[in-house]
Amino acid sequence: MEDLLELERIRSDFPILSRLIHGRRLVYLDNAATTQKPRQVIEAISNYYSYFNSNVHRSPHTLGEEATQAYEEARAKLARFVHAPRSDTLIFTKNTTEALNLLAYSLGYHLLRRGDKVVVTEMEHHSNFVPWQQVARRIGAVFEVVNVTDDGDIDEDDLDRKLEGAKIFSFTHVSNVLGTVTNVKRLTDIAHQKGCVVVVDGAQSVPHMPVDVQSIGCDFYAFSGHKML
Ligand code: PLP
Repeated sequence: MEDLLELERIRSDFPILSRLIHGRRLVYLDNAATTQKPRQVIEAISNYYSYFNSNVHRSPHTLGEEATQAYEEARAKLARFVHAPRSDTLIFTKNTTEALNLLAYSLGYHLLRRGDKVVVTEMEHHSNFVPWQQVARRIGAVFEVVNVTDDGDIDEDDLDRKLEGAKIFSFTHVSNVLGTVTNVKRLTDIAHQKGCVVVVDGAQSVPHMPVDVQSIGCDFYAFSGHKML
């Protein structure tokens, strides 16, 4: 009974769950794609546009200063959340797809030359596959895809071969395809030993587990606020 009351209390935070769909109470299970927003988030966004909206880091007036402060406080909070070394190591993008594209088209173009290798795995979401594949194609770099074993893990023998001489390794922390939780620290260490820059797709991990980017030791870690309420 207490559990049911708790469930109702949590549900009541989400206005969208008051809808009836086909005559029944909405039960929303597509959270891996995007989560519904609780009223606290909806109210914070509405409050911002109602009373604070202005151009951050641009406008030297009260609204501009308040908006900039709120923006930077959000960045600092997020830095604490994933234990980033400093808040200025966080870059806001609209989602993981945009973050990974930004990396592929900046880091990728900066580091890769014709014949260089960039490595992903077979269990990547398209967002961590297509940008690297496209950048490699444009530069004339080699795009390698590491095999996945029958039990859904990254094949470390294949990884070892494919990382040889590679410049960038980009892989997922939690696979949306298989549910596999990769050994992110170990894979990062292996790739660093081979001299690779390491990019981690955290779209399905940050919403579900504590993530400490410093203890993982990767160079870049991408995730999506919209998948976390
Ligand atoms: N990476 C993984 C593992 C995902 O599951 C998803 C989305 O489901 C993405 C990347 C893309 O995330 P977004 O839709 O926030 O760009």
